[in-house]
Amino acid sequence: MIKVYNTLTEKKEEFVPIENKKIKMYVCGPTVYDDAHIGHARSAIVFDVIRRWFEHRGYTVTFVRNYTDVDDKIIKRANEKGITWKEIAEKYIKSFEEDMEALNVKEPSVKPKVTEHIPEIIEMVKGLIEKGHAYEADGDVYFAVETFPEYGKLSKRKTDELMAGARIAPGEKKRNPLDFALWKKSKNGEPGWNSPWGVGRPGWHIECSAMSMKYLGETMDIHGGGLDLIFPHHENEIAQSESYTGKQFVNYWMHNGFVMVNSEKMSKSLGNFFTIKEILEKFSPDVLRFFLISTHYRSPIDFSFERLKEAKTAFERIRNFLNAESVIKNIPAKEIIEGNPLNVEHYREMFYQAMDDDFNTAKALGILFEMIKEANTLKDRAIKEQTLTVKEKESILKAISFVKEMMKVLGFKLEENDKTKNREDELIKLLIDVRQQLRKEKNFKLADEIRNRLKQLGIVLEDLPGGTVYRREE
Ligand code: ZN
Repeated sequence: MIKVYNTLTEKKEEFVPIENKKIKMYVCGPTVYDDAHIGHARSAIVFDVIRRWFEHRGYTVTFVRNYTDVDDKIIKRANEKGITWKEIAEKYIKSFEEDMEALNVKEPSVKPKVTEHIPEIIEMVKGLIEKGHAYEADGDVYFAVETFPEYGKLSKRKTDELMAGARIAPGEKKRNPLDFALWKKSKNGEPGWNSPWGVGRPGWHIECSAMSMKYLGETMDIHGGGLDLIFPHHENEIAQSESYTGKQFVNYWMHNGFVMVNSEKMSKSLGNFFTIKEILEKFSPDVLRFFLISTHYRSPIDFSFERLKEAKTAFERIRNFLNAESVIKNIPAKEIIEGNPLNVEHYREMFYQAMDDDFNTAKALGILFEMIKEANTLKDRAIKEQTLTVKEKESILKAISFVKEMMKVLGFKLEENDKTKNREDELIKLLIDVRQQLRKEKNFKLADEIRNRLKQLGIVLEDLPGGTVYRREE
């Protein structure tokens, strides 16, 4: 049984999909006007891991992530740069897709763009006006919040409290300060589409309702996004969708926590952000993923390069464990005695429990480390004594393949995609071959020098009956 924390009910609930073993999932995508930063990477990776875990547990996931490709910010950027808003949108969609591919985020089932769904959006706005939930005012269309008494149910805000702080901006023709735009009249030179209310473009909130309904139906299982989207974006999505269909819009609302820098939220507006591209120049995608999922997805993460380096060291420990496979295989096993094999199934059970409990990746990774620690003790003893029992050997190899399997499930690429590491491995193997040759020629002085110099670099050679193996020191 998988448990999911639902922002709507503020409880962890047993996950029950609308259709058996099938999941309809929508995650709010980026507004494409700049390169994505680590905050975006967190949301993308969190929901990627959630999707992958569901799939691992036998569910089929229809995953929709949109692009907001027309918006005030895009128009502003285009004006600053002296190019068209379309060029800006295309440029940053491409940039985002490069980032997602680098980060090994699975391709969504559908990636709808707002500009390709204008008829669906107009249809929904029309329907909301007909049902008395929206009104036109001089080319704009607004949703009338007072027609939806449940407004505030997701963000737990009360309309009278919201009213206290709300004002109608000059030039806006809203009836009530809480009303929000479904359709915006185009001003001079702004992009626009013909509609029953004149030339205009969609408001931000309506697009997610229209596009999610088109691909997932009137009620979906999961709608996700960053915490900052709860209000007003998701609250407004609920109001307009449920007013339109009369049905519950989303069964489980899931939100990931912020990435913080010096106790402030990382954001474009505060300027305290690092783009995904900047980070990937210094750290591998696996290390960034490891860093971002080492904290539970609902908790805030403090970002610093110091913490990224720590993540790198911890991740290296996993990689070293996986690399120990050949060392273990080379140690001769004793046939008779049972010894002290690892109980890999016990760790697997605990790992699954952690992941099934609202995707507790932090705990799950902790369990892998516990197992690695136990396996390393066994391995080190075996290397020292140059023997271990059949059962022990089997259990360490099983542990290695379990870690590899779970890392893949969590979306790690592991070493085959790490070009520098591969090159380094090739070079180490070359030096081992040279050293082997030197030993054959009885040039032990130079052979030892190679071993010592490698050790200084943190690479430890071990001469085993089956040949020489190496490991990186932690
Ligand atoms: Zn959205």
